[in-house]
Amino acid sequence: MADFGNMPVGTLMAGKRGLVMGVANKNSIAWGISQQLAAQGAELAFTYQGEALERRVRPLVESIGMDFMVPADVTDDAEMDAAFSEISKKWGKIDFLVHAIAFAGKDELQGSMVANTTREGFRRAMDISVFSFIDAARRASQIMPDGGAMVTMTYLGAERTVPSYNVMGVAKAGLEASTRYAARDLGPMGIRVNAISAGPMRTLAMAGIRGGKSLMSTGRDWSLLKEDTSMEGVAGCALYLLSPLGQSIAGEVIHVDAGFHAVGVPDLSDGDEGGA
Ligand code: NAD
Repeated sequence: MADFGNMPVGTLMAGKRGLVMGVANKNSIAWGISQQLAAQGAELAFTYQGEALERRVRPLVESIGMDFMVPADVTDDAEMDAAFSEISKKWGKIDFLVHAIAFAGKDELQGSMVANTTREGFRRAMDISVFSFIDAARRASQIMPDGGAMVTMTYLGAERTVPSYNVMGVAKAGLEASTRYAARDLGPMGIRVNAISAGPMRTLAMAGIRGGKSLMSTGRDWSLLKEDTSMEGVAGCALYLLSPLGQSIAGEVIHVDAGFHAVGVPDLSDGDEGGA
């Protein structure tokens, strides 16, 4: 029996095929999205970063009844060429792309952005977290002759400062701008490109950020809903954007963060009645 986690089952994606980039383990956002897409009838191909991850990702992929996996380190043009050519050979075309990939060094994800961002660290964060989306969007669009949809993952650190997020915030700002430009280029081909700005979630990527735990608790306690961002909410938004439900939406960044982005001043008054 296929395991779709807590995702509602349906047929919104029946007959659609797509590529998911960024599953590292069962906590990965890309995995939550994959379960939701599969539960709605989509057929999925997966890229993974290196052999060590293949061993972790394969059992997940098999648990939802799929088996199409190709290696692709996004910094390696030859691997990207091979991955997309294999997908093109096997399927001819795809209908959607999920990009959920980012990286910055541990040294960059702490303390002062000004002090800790090296040229090499900046280049690497931009290459893996921003260029990889532009590159994947170009490659994927070449095998979307009938139009399609693409989604990438961003975070509030693109718009506002967040402790330790540093160069990754700069990269996410670049990713959000890339989403709009890709949407502009690919829109006339019937390809909708959007981003989801998710609240903090407990994943491998989050573990690399100094103070990640307090990002999680602040994200919950100061949010409008007073709750953690759920995988089901993020995956549901991805389904919405990638399915026919998302028609007419392009170049958008949707916040799925329990309303945290809408808070100007958090309610810390603790019963304080005073105004003057
Ligand atoms: P994750 O660690 O599960 O996923 C990150 C993925 O990036 C991994 O699969 C990793 O293999 C891949 N990756 C890194 N470098 C790569 C490379 N050179 N080639 C190929 N793949 C590479 O963590 P996640 O939180 O699921 O992250 C997915 C996306 O969601 C990222 O863009 C992240 O910034 C974004 N995001 C995460 C949160 C959060 O709180 N976890 C919030 C908002 C946005």
